Amino acid sequence: MAATVAGCTAIFDGRASLIPKHTGIHKLHLEFKASIGTQEVVQSVKLPPGVDKNVWIASQVLGIFEEVSQIVSLLDGICTEECCPHMNAGKDVVYSWADEKNPQAVQLSAPCYMRTLLDYAYEQLSNLPGEDEPFPTDFKGKMGTLLKRFFRVYAHAYLSHAAPIKLYEAEAHLNLRFKHFLALVTEFKLVAKRDMGPLAELIGNFQMNSNRAGEESFIAEAVVIVERAIHAASRAPETGKLDEAATHELVAQLAHLERSSTTVAATVARVIPRNCRTTDGGLVCICMEDLQALLAGLQASFTGRASVAALCQ
Ligand SMILES: [Zn+2]
Repeated sequence: MAATVAGCTAIFDGRASLIPKHTGIHKLHLEFKASIGTQEVVQSVKLPPGVDKNVWIASQVLGIFEEVSQIVSLLDGICTEECCPHMNAGKDVVYSWADEKNPQAVQLSAPCYMRTLLDYAYEQLSNLPGEDEPFPTDFKGKMGTLLKRFFRVYAHAYLSHAAPIKLYEAEAHLNLRFKHFLALVTEFKLVAKRDMGPLAELIGNFQMNSNRAGEESFIAEAVVIVERAIHAASRAPETGKLDEAATHELVAQLAHLERSSTTVAATVARVIPRNCRTTDGGLVCICMEDLQALLAGLQASFTGRASVAALCQ
């Protein structure tokens, strides 16, 4: 039995396991599922050392497929033939369906499009190579096509059904799954930006938040380093300064963080007096007072944008 586009006889429901369990792909996929978390999404899609790139991409696409299936299930009863007679992403973009068996593009309702997509993806992913079998040369292109269509499910969910998704408190789940999708297609350049145009603003927000999370981690690291230096300086009550070795270590660590984080760089530049610097900007003779000012500055910038702006004035 197979799905047909015209009748939209989806047979996906109830399928739990896609890929034969003996394959390396399936194993990798399960490991990924066990490790996924909000902050780790971007790192988690990176190719691990020693793993074949195609096998890795296949395992990731399996994960995305399961997640898209969950979003389609979530929309069940929300997205209907009546409210969504076309598969759209906002009012200006309407998608039609065509595939190898149905080359003539047809308009489908949104729920029918999504069920047809899941059936199509099931078939494609069931035919992935087994262990030690070669990948076809068009593998990356096929995965790109699948992912481009998966994007449309996210676009439809966000742009047509945001209100009920919020009402059911499922927004965080949708965001996490979309971030996983976005991280994968960005890491391996699998979907062109223009094909994700309908969600460009959301994608920009996610990337900004991701940059901000990176900044926060650099600031947190700088706080730990300065706290450690204060502890060391407090053990030299006569001078109230770090000894040469400790200063050297602090300078090296801060220099690294200044290169990585504009917030750390701006805070150090503002707080440390000019006479504590060499001509090329390196730090020398950091006293307890400066260290405490630096710690306060970093802690203030860690709590939000407003205080960063104030520090940099
Ligand atoms: Zn809909």
